Amino acid sequence: MAYQENSEMAESSRFGHLSTSLVAAVMVALTLASCGPLCVAQAPPPRSAADPHIAQAIQQVSADHIRQTIEKLVSFQNRSTISAQDEESIKAGKGIGAAREWIKAEFERYSKECGGCLEVKTDTFTEQPGDRIPKPTEITNVYAVLRGTDAQQANRIVLVTGHYDSRNSDTFNVTDPAPGANDDGSGTAVSLECARVLSKAFLSKTVLNKAGFPVTIIFLAVAGEEQGLNGSKHFAQMAKQQAWKLEAVLNNDIVGGDRGPQQDASVVRVFSEGLPAAASEAEIRRIRALGGESDSSSRELARYIADVGRSYDAGVKPLLIFRLDRFLRGGDHYSFNQQGFAAVRFTEFREDYNHQHQNVRSENGIEYGDLPKFVDFDYVAHVVRLNAATLASLASAPAPPVTVKMLTRNLENDTTLTWEPSAGAAAYEVVWRSTNAPDWEYVQTVNSGTRATLKVSKDNVIFGVRAVDTAGHRSLPVAPEPER
Ligand SMILES: [Zn+2]
Repeated sequence: MAYQENSEMAESSRFGHLSTSLVAAVMVALTLASCGPLCVAQAPPPRSAADPHIAQAIQQVSADHIRQTIEKLVSFQNRSTISAQDEESIKAGKGIGAAREWIKAEFERYSKECGGCLEVKTDTFTEQPGDRIPKPTEITNVYAVLRGTDAQQANRIVLVTGHYDSRNSDTFNVTDPAPGANDDGSGTAVSLECARVLSKAFLSKTVLNKAGFPVTIIFLAVAGEEQGLNGSKHFAQMAKQQAWKLEAVLNNDIVGGDRGPQQDASVVRVFSEGLPAAASEAEIRRIRALGGESDSSSRELARYIADVGRSYDAGVKPLLIFRLDRFLRGGDHYSFNQQGFAAVRFTEFREDYNHQHQNVRSENGIEYGDLPKFVDFDYVAHVVRLNAATLASLASAPAPPVTVKMLTRNLENDTTLTWEPSAGAAAYEVVWRSTNAPDWEYVQTVNSGTRATLKVSKDNVIFGVRAVDTAGHRSLPVAPEPER
């Protein structure tokens, strides 16, 4: 039961359900009995079954197309947010304005190929002078919207982003090359390639078994990252002000898999915040009382990506890092975290700082600069597959359950959970893990109703509840709130 391979959840027999529950309880009991209260024995994480249509869609990701995208971005020479964006520079193909126009045209090209399925939009604003912005500067985020096809679910949104601005050694330099192939041509390429592949899948009824995804997907490329996360900040604030039901943000920044000798191309790091940046004092108190420090919505999203990584052969495995970001560095996911959204950051395993934020040059036999030749395009393609499979899974899944409660009225060793029905759900799954386990260890299906009682003590484990549809697509799990 800890290993969930059957996607036909709704068809699970009642007997199967009961025996699953029994085995789960016995396993927990045995674990506790055999090694005592300090036991750290952990079960392998459950694995959700792959959707063959999604598996097929991610095969369309092309390393060669990604290479072309990154080389094109590099051709604009310097994509600093404060670089040129006048008509003449755009025509000459130099500066951030030219990059912006090209990204827009590229989204429009994909849209044409899917019968106009993408709405291509821009979010433009003027950033006032600040530490890294010498004068009022127009900043433009470019995005494409793949509108959900289910009227009830289309207001739910999942989003992938990368930043298309770049820099060299000097934050204020707008003339010398700032190729930004890896930082963040690679992340921009993830957004674009996800848009290309998932819009194609959208078009093909045979790929998704039905036209389109029920949930809306947004493919975003932001600017201003290097000057202070300006673009993502503006976009996240807009999402918050307009009360978007934004369920997940995947930020890809430096996913080029730099070809250094110590790179590990088999993994990509996924950073997620623990205590939510947007949590109020009261929420922090509740988290402290629950032992919920590792169950922010961003961390549940990270675990979801881990599950996708087990279910699909993306070519790269997510390595979950339970931390907001790397030391001395920040990223666009934080802008979304600050507005209370679940957002994570993908970054290659080992970064080469000679190939980031550096003037292109050679010194003492060392090559500096963020050039395409250091990028491993096959690696970026793997990262795109992981992102696309995550987006497609979330965009196919029922809404996460709401008002998930854990009854704590009486002192008892059983655990009773309740929740409200989710749109599109055929069944629910209760997942749980030891308090010291990083990922879910057990899963039990609830085939009818929105209430479950388990022979597992809430004092010893952490629970989550997720919704499942008839095809086996799972929602993000939701941690219950205690109710007295
Ligand atoms: Zn970056």
